[in-house]
Amino acid sequence: MLKRFLPGEYAKSVFHIYPHFLKEKGIKGIITDLDNTLVEWDRPNATPKLKNWFEMMEQNGIKVTIVSNNNEKRVRSFSEPLNIPFISKAGKPRAKAFKKAAEQMGLKKEEVVVIGDQLLTDVLGGNLCGFHTILVVPVSSTDGFWTRINRKIERKILKLLKQKGMLHWEE
Ligand SMILES: [Mg+2]
Repeated sequence: MLKRFLPGEYAKSVFHIYPHFLKEKGIKGIITDLDNTLVEWDRPNATPKLKNWFEMMEQNGIKVTIVSNNNEKRVRSFSEPLNIPFISKAGKPRAKAFKKAAEQMGLKKEEVVVIGDQLLTDVLGGNLCGFHTILVVPVSSTDGFWTRINRKIERKILKLLKQKGMLHWEE
């Protein structure tokens, strides 16, 4: 049960995730969360550094789709200027949006990695679909309302994982 919350890898941020690392694992596509994974939840647009990260992935033939539980207005206005496909109101951790994103990229589950800052939505959902998963440290220390509630549960799961010696954050 707990294993479902265990990410395959951890990274300090998306900027610590490089194309060659993904390619070594046979990964050809990224499903990424938006809020507090790519930028702070209350920042409307991508930073120049993040634009470079997307370009680096594209140049290396790695596809990206943004899959967010946030509303269409937020996710569209962030993703469209970048020309990145997106799914809003995704209902993570449910499988539907994850599967749709992989299908749209034309990739098999072994070729997809889910990147996100939350165990309860991103990691759990990615694991249930059989994708690779990478947990990143949230960009911002503040969260929206529902995320704050999720974080409480998440902290309990993280504590349990640590107690069982399943989790090894490099701090
Ligand atoms: Mg998030």
